[in-house]
Amino acid sequence: MTDSTIRSPAIEPADIVWREGMPESARFGDVYFSRDNGLEETRYVFLNHNHLPDRFRNLSDRDSFVIAETGFGTGLNFLASWQAWQQHRPGNGSVLHFISAERYPLTRDDLKRALDLWPELAPLAEELLAHYPPLVRGTHRLVLDEGRVRLTLYFGDVLEAWGALSFSADAWFLDGFAPALNPDMWLDQAMALIREHSKPGTTLATFTAVGRIRRALEDEGFEMRKTPGYGRKRDMIAGVLTGSTSTNSSTPSGTVAIIGAGIAGTLLARNLASRGVAVTLIDAEENAGAAASGNLQGAMYVKLGVEFNIQTELALSALTFSQRAYEPYRGAFWHPTGLLQLAWNPQEQDRQARFLERNQYPEELLYPVDAATASELTGTPVANGGLWFPNNGWLSPGSLCRELARHALIDCRFGTRVDRLMPCNGKWHLSSRDGSDIIADSVVIAAGHKTAELIPLKGEYRFKAIRGQVTHLPEEAIRAPKAVICGQKYLNPCQDGLAVTGATFDLHSADPLVTREANNENLEQLGAMLPGLFPEEEISGDVEGRVGFRCTTHDYQPVAGVMADCNGQSLEGVYLLTGLGSKGLTYAPLLAEYVADQLTGQPACLPATLAHSVRPDRMCRRRAG
Ligand code: SAM
Repeated sequence: MTDSTIRSPAIEPADIVWREGMPESARFGDVYFSRDNGLEETRYVFLNHNHLPDRFRNLSDRDSFVIAETGFGTGLNFLASWQAWQQHRPGNGSVLHFISAERYPLTRDDLKRALDLWPELAPLAEELLAHYPPLVRGTHRLVLDEGRVRLTLYFGDVLEAWGALSFSADAWFLDGFAPALNPDMWLDQAMALIREHSKPGTTLATFTAVGRIRRALEDEGFEMRKTPGYGRKRDMIAGVLTGSTSTNSSTPSGTVAIIGAGIAGTLLARNLASRGVAVTLIDAEENAGAAASGNLQGAMYVKLGVEFNIQTELALSALTFSQRAYEPYRGAFWHPTGLLQLAWNPQEQDRQARFLERNQYPEELLYPVDAATASELTGTPVANGGLWFPNNGWLSPGSLCRELARHALIDCRFGTRVDRLMPCNGKWHLSSRDGSDIIADSVVIAAGHKTAELIPLKGEYRFKAIRGQVTHLPEEAIRAPKAVICGQKYLNPCQDGLAVTGATFDLHSADPLVTREANNENLEQLGAMLPGLFPEEEISGDVEGRVGFRCTTHDYQPVAGVMADCNGQSLEGVYLLTGLGSKGLTYAPLLAEYVADQLTGQPACLPATLAHSVRPDRMCRRRAG
């Protein structure tokens, strides 16, 4: 298989040959690590020559440290760094960021075989393997060790990676294959990008001692020295970017208040808490997950576009990130039963055909199925085939929100309706009618369709509220599926005697009460999509349901990040996390991670193009002149 036969988003994997049990690259004709002792070589070349154990020990709690690497390969360098971090990190609130680019990622099977060589790293290897992303190009953020280690894996060329990602490294591992065998990895342009992602005091180490590389790094301002190499290698080089010594990379975020305890707000609160940040979580309701995120069941999926463009890339990143993020809640609030995107009418059949023609996705993400297989997988007779997402499923979002809000570092202020945000001596004053005022350095508005009312730029940002009503189907009234089915409507498997279907999409109604008409609409459309679902006489619209209001934007893309200034008013310290529409369960985990990255000054989990596509200032009705 060559690059030209692979269609995006799939990426060509490494072609490994195993020689005496050791992995080698057939493409580059080089070894992944020393035949003498790869782990000891990693410790000697990369960890010790970047003075890592000492620098880890000298950090304070809540500091972060950023290692960047060229060539993730088998992940050995990463695991050795993680192990050293566990042994020497200053405290539970500190985060190790490891950012690595890989043009030809190993398949999961090869990765496992390579990492099986290191029994002392087995628990870490197992966690990495459980989170290892599907082989699709682009940025993957893996949250490991309960958030204390964050791996940003870029599947693509180094030049692309360093152009796309925004971070400043404390230490570099240059670990491409030998420059003579892989010149593309060692271009002067790559050295210039390494310099751009460094700061005074950033250190660097590499196994090679080739003169051209040393000179290129010196030209970029690194002070390089030659030292003895590991094992049979005579020399290696290491260096430091001149200037004062590197300190931690994070800017402490001070106090953070989050308005809105739905899925976005609770995920963000928990995310910050896992990075050692204390959070005040505010909601007008008496509990978390009481508004739009409070449904009993919700399907976790997005429709991936026919074009592999920025919107599709964001949707795909969000989808794979969510699968990993919800994994700790499997069986409790997360049920990855598999999900069928049904080709329920000719338009959708045509769309899926074009989607499959243009794109290549790994089977662990999705694959096409015919009607017979779809019926077998969902346990429900369906008349058409569709796309099967084996690792998707449904959530209990309301219960999950309540669980996420329970953490020692999260101070829940429920039953508090914030009316106004006012700047106050470099901080933000959140005033509420009941008088329980809150002052915070940073505020995140994650208030769904109520967000617009709270934004300190009155009338400047436009959002749409879309009424959605779900219907609760009693188990005895349907042939419930064992996996989620999505088409014109979605239907979940039963839990506690009922299955949730929905939702309506009404731009013009603000009615908060369940209506019979909306239930009937859900039932009719579901019946048309899945003939034979209702075994007996028609079920009536008098069944129970629930109403929520989605918050959508003019371009149907979410909004996440620091707020910009539309017309000269200062908004420093105000962030938005909203506009998730009906895709909140899928988008919220990744975008909460992104906003938490911004609040803590840590490397962003989104590449620049995706960050740009969700930036809040695109919502300004008019720009400052
Ligand atoms: N650090 C790895 C480890 O701990 O196992 C070993 C890295 S191996 C020596 C070099 C890696 O660089 C290979 O996985 C290779 O596919 C990758 N690579 C080669 N050229 C590349 C490029 N232009 N951009 C990104 N990665 C590249």
